Amino acid sequence: MGSGEDSDGKRSLPEHLERMRSRVEVGSKVPSNSEGVYYSGAYSSMGVDNSLSVSDLEKRLKVKILEKEKDRIVFELIGIDAPIANTIRRILLSEVPTMAIEKVSFFANSSVIHEEILAHRLGLIPLDVDPNLFDYMEEGAEPSEVNALKFRLKVQCTKVAAVPAEAKPSLKYHNSDVFSSMLEWEPIGEQAEVFGSKPPKPVNDDILIAKLRPGQEIDLEVLAVKGISKDHAKWSPVATAFYRMLPQVELLKSIEGADAIELKDMCPSNCFDIEESGKAVAVRPGQCTMCRECIRHGDWEEKIRLSRVRDHFIFSIESTGAIAPEDLFMRALQVLVDKCGNVVERLTESLDVSSAQARASTNKEHLSHLTRMSTGR
Ligand code: SF4
Repeated sequence: MGSGEDSDGKRSLPEHLERMRSRVEVGSKVPSNSEGVYYSGAYSSMGVDNSLSVSDLEKRLKVKILEKEKDRIVFELIGIDAPIANTIRRILLSEVPTMAIEKVSFFANSSVIHEEILAHRLGLIPLDVDPNLFDYMEEGAEPSEVNALKFRLKVQCTKVAAVPAEAKPSLKYHNSDVFSSMLEWEPIGEQAEVFGSKPPKPVNDDILIAKLRPGQEIDLEVLAVKGISKDHAKWSPVATAFYRMLPQVELLKSIEGADAIELKDMCPSNCFDIEESGKAVAVRPGQCTMCRECIRHGDWEEKIRLSRVRDHFIFSIESTGAIAPEDLFMRALQVLVDKCGNVVERLTESLDVSSAQARASTNKEHLSHLTRMSTGR
């Protein structure tokens, strides 16, 4: 098998090497080819250029949305390498900013929950406000309309008159449950005009903060500030963000009759169907979890080939609700672009410094040479 040419007229790898480059094989015991080949000169002896090229990336890159809900999106990301997909995932988990409660001032707390636990619970409540409208709060800075949000929680539990003793606490008492909806926003400066008809509030109204009984009260004030989850998980914009490589299920031989029924029954993810002719077909390979049940026994591994496509990702983002999941993806890309910009800037600066130093050292050498000549030493 020799190398040929692809549709663009470029030299391409022989089939078996192309498969090694583009697939992770999943055998009955262990996966193979799990490490990708990213070195640009890896196939130079065959005249194949493996370097990263922006024009190739533009041609290969595709995004296809599979599912979209208010707080969740699933899409295919095709044509990028695993390190880049993983970078986007990690940025989503820890570097896209949100607003979260950072400081809590207690005026009264006679509930059974200690202040530090209550403060921790408050910090984890996702807030429905765009962090792009705020600056980060500098160390020691005073809270202001551009760097903070203020909320007040003032609640007291009292008895409801004439309710039987066996009734539920929520019927017997006012404010027996303290929910996130009870946090009242107190605008700082011009914030009331800025936010207008969409005041900042918790994403969910029904997050239980504490339970109170008659005579108990909570009175506190909180400040929410902008941050990233690299510093604390409360600033995480996602419940989770993950991807998996596209599974491929290939039938290497025709599987019919009793074997087809056995195969269909073996798969817990319902990947196979049986055609009218009695032949098994892999109709839902995308549902394959690579459990390997279909290749674990007997000679099934000779009939079925399982693999994952190395540059084809099924990406899932579940937002906490503060930012739409599709916006989160775009913001993660922006963070990545900014990081690359920073690297280029630092590199340019250090190259400028090195060339200035090189020039200075050349001038010094030249000067000492002239001095030696003029003094004859
Ligand atoms: S690996 Fe598991 S999920 Fe995938 S096709 Fe085989 S039995 Fe089904």
